[in-house]
Amino acid sequence: MKKLAAGNWKMNGTAAALEEARALTAAHPAPACEMLLCPPATLIARMAEAARGTALMVGGQDCHAKPSGAHTGDLSAAMLRDAGASHVILGHSERRTDHAETDAQVRAKAEAAVAEGLVAIVCIGETEAERDAGQTLAVIGRQLDGSIPAGATAANLVIAYEPVWAIGTGRTPTLAEIGEVHSFLRDRLRGLIGDAADGVRLLYGGSVKPSNAAEIFAIPHVDGALVGGASLKAADFGGIVAALSAA
Ligand code: PEP
Repeated sequence: MKKLAAGNWKMNGTAAALEEARALTAAHPAPACEMLLCPPATLIARMAEAARGTALMVGGQDCHAKPSGAHTGDLSAAMLRDAGASHVILGHSERRTDHAETDAQVRAKAEAAVAEGLVAIVCIGETEAERDAGQTLAVIGRQLDGSIPAGATAANLVIAYEPVWAIGTGRTPTLAEIGEVHSFLRDRLRGLIGDAADGVRLLYGGSVKPSNAAEIFAIPHVDGALVGGASLKAADFGGIVAALSAA
């Protein structure tokens, strides 16, 4: 399985930031892993244009579950694909918190994405209170069961395990804690989709940076990373791409 370094720019970046994507592809013309950036929707088409003929893939950060209609401000999966996206992040904890997205809504969006030929990157993760209460596996198991699309395969689904308390905080779980969750996810996914589970990329996300990437990528069942802050600069994200390529 080819591993995946995915960057989530969140609500950051205007046209000038495309220089970072250009610098990334110049420094990493043929990485051994897949390389994806998910900029704000306003930059998807221009980044896809800049990435044409390079190893960089481009994704969205959300899509609507419906193909079209009266949904002001929303984007459909077909619109993302039309703009040049190959992937879409769904159910990020910031969407679950800021927009009260439920597992059922995330699943519906993932099904819409997969129907349009996009790879759905479904995010799950526990809060700090849930971890402290010993509920981590119960919470992520429930989110996994409820959020993955019908017809999920290794080709159309990526799971990102992102502890909410590790996102943007500089804090990470221990390597053993990440390993425990990722093996649990692999087993749980086998129960849901059978042998195809072995090919589904399980990303870790939450304060990944060049300095901790190699040790995280050495953990069994960690098949890449979803990176927020460190994906904004080509040098930082490139360091993570290099670590994953060497893993
Ligand atoms: C994220 O938002 O998906 C994320 C992991 O952010 P950061 O890398 O900044 O913690």
